[in-house]
Amino acid sequence: MKHIYLAFILMTTLVFSQNMPARTSKKVVFIIVDGISYDQLQTAKTPHLDRIAKEGSFTEAYVGGIAEDYRNTPTISAVGYNSLLTGTWANKHNVYGNGIKKPNYSYPTIFRLYKDQHPNGSIAVFSSWLDNRTKLVGDGLPETKYLKVNEHYDGMEHDSINFPHDKQRNFMKMIDMHVALKASEVIENKGPDVSWVYLEFTDDMGHAFGDSPRFNAAVTFEDGLIGRIYNAVQKRQQTHNEDWLFVVTTDHGRRASDGKHHGGQTARERSTWIAINKKETNTYFKKQIPAIVDIYPTMLQHLSLTPSKAVLRELDGVSLLRPVDAIQLSATKKANKLEIRWKALQSGKANLYLTTTNHFNQSKTDTYIKIGEVDLSKEYFKTSVKRRPSNFYKVVLETPNTTLNYWITK
Ligand SMILES: [Zn+2]
Repeated sequence: MKHIYLAFILMTTLVFSQNMPARTSKKVVFIIVDGISYDQLQTAKTPHLDRIAKEGSFTEAYVGGIAEDYRNTPTISAVGYNSLLTGTWANKHNVYGNGIKKPNYSYPTIFRLYKDQHPNGSIAVFSSWLDNRTKLVGDGLPETKYLKVNEHYDGMEHDSINFPHDKQRNFMKMIDMHVALKASEVIENKGPDVSWVYLEFTDDMGHAFGDSPRFNAAVTFEDGLIGRIYNAVQKRQQTHNEDWLFVVTTDHGRRASDGKHHGGQTARERSTWIAINKKETNTYFKKQIPAIVDIYPTMLQHLSLTPSKAVLRELDGVSLLRPVDAIQLSATKKANKLEIRWKALQSGKANLYLTTTNHFNQSKTDTYIKIGEVDLSKEYFKTSVKRRPSNFYKVVLETPNTTLNYWITK
């Protein structure tokens, strides 16, 4: 009888545990290491990034928006970070320089979106530049509804006692080291849900020495710090029921002639890269050159966040993990006709929507009308807007997996 009873308990436990698997916590850490073009990364020794690429995936990538239209985004540091943080180009997030004068907080950062859906979740910023948290993420600002960054370690660049500012900028190397070690420690011990680590030293060496052994040595130094953080994530995954998305990227490339400066739209200034700890990247990641704005939708999917349709309709990137149905939506207006084009990556149906307002950028609502249902494979749609005269149109293409948008501006 006792045996039967035990067998019964065992069976019910088995059935119960099969039906109710312990939930894996999904977490994200992204690292921006400043100002290393794709070709420069290839030149330097980076054993840790090589290891991450081997265990996960690696791709060439770009920043700078679409150079020839309204999405032109300067290849400047804070501009690039905010493209990652908001999943949009500068025409939306409105950071055009390192002064970070007037970010448009209507486009929510990944931190805002996470906290909106997980008020008790924890977010973290480890950074060699204070403004990243206080201005871009907007810690404690009324414009971000007093978003609270739970863990932060930054501002050392303002501490000239512990980090005396030397001409060679070795203090910045020390700051990066402190930032990375703190990030590793907090990730290993507390495992925040969404973390940003920012490392600056490479950009300083780029500006000072350009393409040089000094620059390569700085890249190798940062690679060692990236390795420390990656190890912390791996330890976390071994000891906790957690699935981490680990992304490393850079905010811009460097000038072609000598690798010193940046800010323009040349191929090398726009040239970046993305390393990710997941093998299962999608066809888009493998066959196209992704952009910095694609990291945001990738994080959304990993974290199972479900933003509003209005937010999805503003994102300028697509996921690097799940299937992508279409990319490169564009439209032109000639006389009273809208001609809409896209590139299909899969077959299927899509819906097209149109609005003549841009209220979203003042945190208000746009009203869209459906203008057509199309076969993705046609890659073309034409419609009349005679009855909707306007100097501004926002076109949206929605498929089962992908939402794209495009502005027509005067
Ligand atoms: Zn930079």
